[in-house]
Amino acid sequence: MKLIFLGPPGAGKGTQATGVSTSLNVPHLSTGDMFRAAIKNETPTGLKAKSYMDKGQLVPDSVVIDMVRERLAMDDCKGGYLLDGFPRTVEQAKALDEISTPDAVINIEVPDEKLMSRLTGRRVCGKCQGTFHITKLANEKTCPVCGADLIHRDDDKPETISNRLRVYHEQTAPLIGYYQGNGKLRTVDGDNRPEDVLKAILASLE
Ligand code: ADP
Ligand code: ZN
Repeated sequence: MKLIFLGPPGAGKGTQATGVSTSLNVPHLSTGDMFRAAIKNETPTGLKAKSYMDKGQLVPDSVVIDMVRERLAMDDCKGGYLLDGFPRTVEQAKALDEISTPDAVINIEVPDEKLMSRLTGRRVCGKCQGTFHITKLANEKTCPVCGADLIHRDDDKPETISNRLRVYHEQTAPLIGYYQGNGKLRTVDGDNRPEDVLKAILASLE
């Protein structure tokens, strides 16, 4: 199964994508994670992406599209994949159509006012990539799953978050219309318990 996950920053895309990729046994491809790894390893892609990410802006389409094209050509994507964070612009969606046609597009909806608090309180694990909210953590510094250090992402600071939400509405939300026409769009209410959102997504794919 070839899947795309759409939704604003903080909608729970990463958490749900992890659950769905395990349930359906397809690789989880997060462009955000790919960029963060590239920055850490100081690759040419990482060097190009960093300044945009720090400002909450999108990385230029050509950089993202080349990276995704290379990743989708790898063997583990032959039986399907789950794209999390791509496409994010109509230009990227058109490029993807040339590479591979998705079977379904999951659109996770959460009202803007909830997203801000979800994102400012978000902490991510530098090792297992788990995502947690400070309200649910006994200790804000340590991953409850693997014990590694938790990170407050630079782009999860308030100024950058409002920028990311604006970028989402301007550049990514139009993709809902782009995918609506072909009957592949599945809209799921993301303002629920994570386990219920996962059930709703899996049910929508049956
Ligand atoms: P979130 O979904 O929480 O905003 P991501 O981890 O998906 O976070 O992305 C973090 C940043 O990486 C984005 O703000 C953007 O700068 C960059 N990025 C990720 N995916 C793309 C993409 N498809 N196109 C352009 N930039 C991207
Ligand atoms: Zn961890």
